[in-house]
Amino acid sequence: MTSTPAIPTPMTAAADTASAAVSAAEAADGTGLHGPVTDWFAEHARDLPWRRPEAGAWGVMVSEFMLQQTPVSRVLPVYEQWLARWPRPADLAAEAPGEAVRAWGRLGYPRRALRLHAAASAIQERHGGDVPREHAQLLALPGVGEYTAAAVASFAYGQRHAVLDTNVRRVFARAVTGRQYPPNATTAAERKLARALLPEDEELASRWAAATMELGALVCTARSPECHRCPIAAQCAWQQAGSPVHDGPPRRAQTYAGTDRQVRGKLLAVLREAVTPVPQVALDAVWDEPVQRARALDGLVSDGLVEPLSGGRYRLPHA
Ligand code: SF4
Repeated sequence: MTSTPAIPTPMTAAADTASAAVSAAEAADGTGLHGPVTDWFAEHARDLPWRRPEAGAWGVMVSEFMLQQTPVSRVLPVYEQWLARWPRPADLAAEAPGEAVRAWGRLGYPRRALRLHAAASAIQERHGGDVPREHAQLLALPGVGEYTAAAVASFAYGQRHAVLDTNVRRVFARAVTGRQYPPNATTAAERKLARALLPEDEELASRWAAATMELGALVCTARSPECHRCPIAAQCAWQQAGSPVHDGPPRRAQTYAGTDRQVRGKLLAVLREAVTPVPQVALDAVWDEPVQRARALDGLVSDGLVEPLSGGRYRLPHA
């Protein structure tokens, strides 16, 4: 009996192309991508304040905290005000953490403000007020994870680190792995690939990190990549595979309306505006549903973003 040869489906064909592309890219160490991407960056990079020399390592660190979950356009005004008020870590560390929460404004995920304040205090105590250069020392700061440590070491100090944010992961997923989107959470395989693609030369590696991030932000965007103006379109595995649609787990949708996050944002907005402690009744006015409102307020208190006082009053944290 003769066996019938398997007919390749579009999915298996895409997967084969993708795995071939991975092998090709790993074999080539990504060297074919470095020149086009960094040349494109030299011509098209946005002039952002944290990329200017005067930003220094502190400016880079502040921007990285703010940009993690917030778009550039919303970060820009808050970043400018922040650096004008607190040009050095010591300036921020000298103030109450509540002032950081107040200045964070509407950037969202305000625990980042507390963490940045804690990082500034640790920089002052452990490093004499200068943002440390070593990746391990950066990683040891409160609120600084693998991504932020790599980003500061790379962007501020020109070191060689794989800097793997959402934009970079998407570019690598498409250009190298041949998939429309990366997995929901960063995988060991992605880290390995990012390290394999990193240029050997330290200075080039630093530019590559910034350039891949910018490419993902401006050209290889999540919803509508502009492949016609992409410097690596000719090598892109996803393009070569015929742009196969996403076949992984559903992508997480961000919702806001009606969530505890929204209620927390409304409560915090009242406290940010207040110069004196706020009575419970003023907080009760921002959301009708009492159980959700109480849960949101409890969450803010347990996160250290709000300080309860006697007499049912609340304020931003003072210590
Ligand atoms: S060719 Fe298109 S999909 Fe591929 S990396 Fe460039 S912008 Fe992204």
